[in-house]
Amino acid sequence: MPKKPKKTGKEETTDIYRLLFEASEKKRKKKRIELLQSVGVEDIFEKGNITIDMKTCKGVECKFCIDVCPTSALYWKTGEVYITKELCIYCTSCVLNCMVDNCIEVTRKRPNGETETFCKPQDVFLLLDKLNTRNRIKTLKKLLPDDETYLKRYGKHFSKFKKEK
Ligand code: SF4
Ligand code: SF4
Repeated sequence: MPKKPKKTGKEETTDIYRLLFEASEKKRKKKRIELLQSVGVEDIFEKGNITIDMKTCKGVECKFCIDVCPTSALYWKTGEVYITKELCIYCTSCVLNCMVDNCIEVTRKRPNGETETFCKPQDVFLLLDKLNTRNRIKTLKKLLPDDETYLKRYGKHFSKFKKEK
């Protein structure tokens, strides 16, 4: 009878849980792409999460979040707001329009790995302000001359100023 090979402890093992997780992630991603394509939306933030606190939600009196959601990820059923998570693109429109702070929470991951969380309109405004400032600086940098051009253009005024002193 042939001898069984001795176990060294270094044999490769198959991590069935990891494989199952990867398979379900792939399925989820495929479904998400299909759904978003069908409503004509480009997938911007791939990773994120959205939750709604039903204890603080004003529900029937409001439904603002449902009205503003661009992908119809939010819908009204049996007296509550429901989420189709695969349709959410983490755009934060619902947070911006929700009448209750900390009721909707959107967390999203940027391609550079940075994570952002939004629970109230102010969080969205702060981000918009940051982006606007960045854009203003970029535009100004394009409009303003570099040091050399600046000196060529205005240098003579400085020398005049020195002489007057
Ligand atoms: S984050 Fe945007 S896409 Fe997601 S549920 Fe809110 S409004 Fe809809
Ligand atoms: S906007 Fe906020 S309070 Fe209004 S229904 Fe949506 S989650 Fe509830």
